Amino acid sequence: MRVLLTGSAGFVGSHLATRLLGEGHHVVGVDNYLSGQPRNTAQLLEWPGFRFVEADVSRALPDPGGPLDWVLHFASPASPPHYQEHPIETLMVGAQGTQNALDLALAHGAQFLLASTSEVYGDPLVHPQPETYWGHVNPNGVRSCYDEAKRYAEAITMAYHRHHGLRTRIIRIFNTYGPRMRADDGRVVTNFVHQALRGEPLTVYGAGDQTRSFQYVDDLVEGVRRLMGVPYSGPVNLGNPDEYTVLDFARLIRDAVAPGLEIVHLPPAQDDPQQRRPDIALARSLLGWAPRVPLREGLERMIAEVRAEVGLPATAFSP
Ligand code: NAD
Ligand code: UDP
Repeated sequence: MRVLLTGSAGFVGSHLATRLLGEGHHVVGVDNYLSGQPRNTAQLLEWPGFRFVEADVSRALPDPGGPLDWVLHFASPASPPHYQEHPIETLMVGAQGTQNALDLALAHGAQFLLASTSEVYGDPLVHPQPETYWGHVNPNGVRSCYDEAKRYAEAITMAYHRHHGLRTRIIRIFNTYGPRMRADDGRVVTNFVHQALRGEPLTVYGAGDQTRSFQYVDDLVEGVRRLMGVPYSGPVNLGNPDEYTVLDFARLIRDAVAPGLEIVHLPPAQDDPQQRRPDIALARSLLGWAPRVPLREGLERMIAEVRAEVGLPATAFSP
């Protein structure tokens, strides 16, 4: 297959590209480094099947230089500090960037996959969240640049599917972590891991009784690959239903990396969703998929990589 992947220099995009290249496919990666990392591109360029184009997909997508079987649209800041620092770019990449990617797929007779998010459920009143839940989103709050951009992205993807007959997929990704996240990513897993390794207090926003469910990136990539093989155009949740309060998650990382470390409470984040856990019944039945990597094992893999990056010796992870 020949695949064009937007957001290839990002965390998820770089893992997905590695998987596709490992299977022998050709990947054209596109990224403008708004929140990605050149070193992710450098790793991918070691594969002969990889080509990289630095471009802002909200302006135009590059000529892929040949036929395309798939356009995978993963470009978008995903970390709340990143998208709140770049609200206009975030809205644009979800809106114009998605339309540009859909038009490219249409022009090439390619299939299209959108990376959407559990954030379309907002601060959910239904728990856990099935795909049939329409969500509870503040349309003009500090998170709206991300949530509404992704809701629009889903809407325009379905419009291209219904109006143009484009073969499309939509995945709703729940909190995903693993190696290759930026040290300054700002999301909870990277913050806690780097804080613990530096011996700094872990920063819990608010009381820490809000919940999240953490998925290891390899499980997500497996779900994406399976959905690419199934002609289902509706949204599909991909996440790990194993749910933790943020305070318990802080304790888990502290006890594993640096027991005795202080946990401090900072003011709560604005419009922070209070609970989040995927209902994955659809992915189970449609794809025969379920996450396989337990949290402790995934954290162990990620922490080993971060230790190597920051020059710390490897030690056993012992929660
Ligand atoms: P990331 O920030 O690491 O990667 C996003 C990539 O998109 C970056 O490399 C960034 O430079 C690139 N990008 C942003 N705007 C662009 C533009 N206009 N043109 C070209 N490139 C652009 O984030 P991630 O965690 O890898 O997320 C990847 C995708 O998955 C995003 O669409 C995100 O919304 C979605 N997602 C991720 C998670 C998660 O937990 N990681 C959860 C839900 C949804
Ligand atoms: N959070 C926290 N401390 C941090 C970073 C995040 O307590 O240093 C909390 C945040 O308020 C939210 C949860 O952890 O309740 C997950 O935040 P993240 O930014 O990872 O992603 P979100 O799921 O909110 O998009």
